[in-house]
Amino acid sequence: EFLIALSNFQHANGIAITGVLDRDTMLIMTQLRCGVPDLTINPNATTTTPEPSTLSENEKKLAKMQNPNQNDTDIVQTSVLLQRIILNSRRERRQRTKRSTLFQMYSTRSGWGLAFPGRTITWRLVGELLWPSSNNQFMTSNEVWFTVKLAFRMWSEILPRNFLEDTVSPVSEVDILLGFGTNRHNRCPVPFTTQGQFIQEYAHAWPLPQAEIHFNDRQPYTRSSSNYPISLLKVAIHEIGHTLGLPHSDDRMSIMNPYYKPIQGSKDTDELRTSDRNSIQNIYGSCELPFDVAFDWVRRERAEDGVYRWKYNSYFFRRQWYWLYENRHHRPRYGDPKLTAHHWLGIMQINDQHRKIDGIVHVRELNSPEGPTFFFKGDIFLEYDNDRSRAKIRDSAGNRYPRRIKDGFPGVPYPIDTVFYKADERIIYFFKNNLVYKFHWPSKRVVDVKTVSTTFPGWGGAAPLPSNIDSAYYSYTSQAYFFFKGAYFWKMAGNQERYLNRRIRIPNNSVGPRRRTSSTWRDICDVGETELVM
Ligand SMILES: [Zn+2]
Ligand SMILES: [Zn+2]
Repeated sequence: EFLIALSNFQHANGIAITGVLDRDTMLIMTQLRCGVPDLTINPNATTTTPEPSTLSENEKKLAKMQNPNQNDTDIVQTSVLLQRIILNSRRERRQRTKRSTLFQMYSTRSGWGLAFPGRTITWRLVGELLWPSSNNQFMTSNEVWFTVKLAFRMWSEILPRNFLEDTVSPVSEVDILLGFGTNRHNRCPVPFTTQGQFIQEYAHAWPLPQAEIHFNDRQPYTRSSSNYPISLLKVAIHEIGHTLGLPHSDDRMSIMNPYYKPIQGSKDTDELRTSDRNSIQNIYGSCELPFDVAFDWVRRERAEDGVYRWKYNSYFFRRQWYWLYENRHHRPRYGDPKLTAHHWLGIMQINDQHRKIDGIVHVRELNSPEGPTFFFKGDIFLEYDNDRSRAKIRDSAGNRYPRRIKDGFPGVPYPIDTVFYKADERIIYFFKNNLVYKFHWPSKRVVDVKTVSTTFPGWGGAAPLPSNIDSAYYSYTSQAYFFFKGAYFWKMAGNQERYLNRRIRIPNNSVGPRRRTSSTWRDICDVGETELVM
């Protein structure tokens, strides 16, 4: 398939069909680019009207793309252009009654633009042409649809926005329209750029208020980035970035670089990198939703050499979703969240979109990963088998799961807010409203009930831990206990704080000032209601 795709690419570009990656082919690939001009206009930078003759082709095209009703010779001053775009968007608002009714102006260091204000952004694939065309024999229409859906999903994984395919509303009410065309296409005022037979432009996008993406149908697209010539996924992610408000980036590693970069090496991916995440979050903000459970899952894993080793990962749960958090990369695993019920076998008994998990605790021996892991929901609990990665049917005494909390943890109220375990004290801390129940694990009884604020006072002038917290866990990476409520977290003072503040007395179990969760755990973002399975 690769050879056919490559030959097709060579044929489409009018060069010798060799079926190998020769110099001509590489040259064309390195010049293949997005049709959106690279210029970013700073409304404060230009105060005089530039002479049309001094504008480069690039600048003329940009002006045209930002105001399609304008003639080439009638280039307006940038501040006027800005006003026209706003006026244009107001006109659009009247014409497109329900379509994201308002467009938000944003201004960042890299420029200004329009952004979608609503939490949900709708999209649709539209076509004047038959799809797939003869050029695009490598993808079925279903694969095209899936690839576009995946590209939107990848943006939603890092943004406080959801993307929803809308196939029923009138076209004028859909936020982002995507289509395929050749040369002059889709009533678009800008044809795709070619140089003779050579296709220079793989696609282009119109920013808001139009928010349209046009793929060049002469380009033989393929499904994944590991295949030459052109990955539709990579192009779709890039063009969606434009409709969301991103300009081009000079950074060769950025998805917003205008030139197509074939995937290089096994470590290379299509995923959005830190720089892309930062620039889009400058416009839309970062994900700040609370979560139900934070949990470091520790277990033994048999390595290839046959030796058992400890393994731990941080997990965050919200409603029916979970994220595996890659602490060393400061972001969730690529492709997360996943459905909890699909990947934590047996947990669907207590968890779906209407039933959040209340708490998870690993009651492990000191200096050992051994010990049971419990999931709590309402008045019941389950035990998870860490070695077999599934919920247990019965406990060691033969009691059938799920069991009642009042039977397994007598004296503990339910439903709980959250729970965590301190291995050195052998105490399970159960939280309920303003109270903490200390449950002594070896004797299986509640040994103390106190308020949250007296159990977890503040140190160094910080307020004590508040009531009704969402979640608590011990992080093996940070070697510290953390508490979460809403968009904030608190860190319990540990060896690090005691060492750095040797002159003051830091009370036991005391917490520092609250901080924004998103400042430490990035991009734990909702993605809508569906899971994508290829
Ligand atoms: Zn572009
Ligand atoms: Zn177009």
